[in-house]
Amino acid sequence: MSRILPPPDRFDLRVEVIVVGAGAAGLVAALRLADARVHTLVLERDPRPSGSTSMSSGFIPAAGTAAQVAAGIADSAEAFAADIAQKSHGSGDPDLGALAARTIGPTLDWLADAHGLEWEVLTDFLYPGHGTHRMHAVPERTGAALLTRLSVAVEAAGVPVVTDAHVTALFAEGARVLGVEVTRPDGRVERIGCGALVLASSGYGGNPALVAQHIPAMAEAPYFGHPGNRGDALLWGQALGAAVRDLSGCQGHGSLAHPHGVLITWALMAEGGIQVNAGGRRFANEQRGYSEQALDVLAQPGGIAWDVFDARLLALARRFPDFREAEAAGAVLGGADLTALARGTGLPADAVAETLEACSQFARGRSEDPFGRDFTTTQPLAPPFYAVRVTGALFHTQGGLLIDEDARVVDAGGDALLSLFAAGGAAVGVSGPDPSGYLSGNGLLTAVAFGSRAGQGASRI
Ligand SMILES: Cc1cc2nc3c(=O)[nH]c(=O)nc-3n(C[C@H](O)[C@H](O)[C@H](O)COP(=O)(O)OP(=O)(O)OC[C@H]3O[C@@H](n4cnc5c(N)ncnc54)[C@H](O)[C@@H]3O)c2cc1C
Repeated sequence: MSRILPPPDRFDLRVEVIVVGAGAAGLVAALRLADARVHTLVLERDPRPSGSTSMSSGFIPAAGTAAQVAAGIADSAEAFAADIAQKSHGSGDPDLGALAARTIGPTLDWLADAHGLEWEVLTDFLYPGHGTHRMHAVPERTGAALLTRLSVAVEAAGVPVVTDAHVTALFAEGARVLGVEVTRPDGRVERIGCGALVLASSGYGGNPALVAQHIPAMAEAPYFGHPGNRGDALLWGQALGAAVRDLSGCQGHGSLAHPHGVLITWALMAEGGIQVNAGGRRFANEQRGYSEQALDVLAQPGGIAWDVFDARLLALARRFPDFREAEAAGAVLGGADLTALARGTGLPADAVAETLEACSQFARGRSEDPFGRDFTTTQPLAPPFYAVRVTGALFHTQGGLLIDEDARVVDAGGDALLSLFAAGGAAVGVSGPDPSGYLSGNGLLTAVAFGSRAGQGASRI
């Protein structure tokens, strides 16, 4: 829905700020606007807010928070920004990376102090590319709980979240947005005027045509994010003359249980697990990151790989709610030895044995992994063994509308479109143009940090 319409003679309702989308970005923006006492309306297309936020693991990286200090972890926004830049090989926008890194810590502390959100720092394992433990989660450790807690806070702050409110067009004069058209499920149309608009309707993962156009390598990959994220913000922004960046960037994931459709934590790979194809052979360095691994998994026969791990890693994985869900669904297969594992999985026992033997040679420094993984830092796998059949998937898109320090959308000349803001999947991320540039947590990082910036910026209009 990329329609831009001239303003109507009369709006049915007027508010100071409209926020489109009730995911993490939209709800954080709404809380900032509530704090500034700005009359705000959040419009959400679904009957109940969920978004990719509630499908996510809910892990938000942040540096210098009170939760990190309480856990005795020394960290800084500069170190975090350096990790973001290193993962994207310097291809992401450096200013936005630094802005996100210095905004997110104070934002999580403000959400705790002003709106009662509780944060824990995950110290179970280090996510690939992060120099220290900085992944934060609400106590339930799920994206669904994160969204619920944000929704409760928004309700307590008195901001109405109107559901079943599909924004189907923007009203604008030139590049100045003056309101939105909302279409209800029964076809009724409402026109709501506003002084500023925050686009928090996420990216275009749910729009196969846009994925094929901008991320052809992922065109055939299953999309595992929110299906309602159909690129509306991108299309509206482009129609208004906004600049865009890194449209081929995205978060993939190389470990989605198949056919169960449940995320299998990458902690398994970070702490010593391996991935093999149906022939029992490794095919990539699993410790680079889960995003780039999606394409490597999809390139295997049938687009299928197996996560192989042992009892030590099983215990670690069981701390993650998603993994327990996968186990309950029967996705986790086990065997006392490789022959028993082969019976359950159909993997060739001899080939897997050779693969494990090669890994143990790499760990002892007797030979080097041809894929470049360092096996000396993790324990070798030992029986009993476990395996999960997985595929690669597209989780969300990272490209989007270019924004400034206040999360205002800018045009190609760098001038701000005065009344238009964007955050989360609607705005450009900090991962650059390639899936390999995605550092764990870059999704919720920019949703929460730029949601906060957008709320503050819009409150000043
Ligand atoms: C399985 C999975 C696990 C993930 N785990 C993590 C993680 O642990 N850490 C991390 O950082 N990132 C993670 N991500 C990515 C993260 O979920 C997203 O980057 C983040 O949730 C984006 O937030 P958002 O608010 O921009 O979008 P969303 O949460 O998707 O919200 C957008 C909302 O806008 C609504 N909307 C869309 N169009 C319209 C319209 N026209 N009118 C009205 N409403 C509209 C949608 O219905 C939706 O509710 C994960 C993603 C997936 C799929």
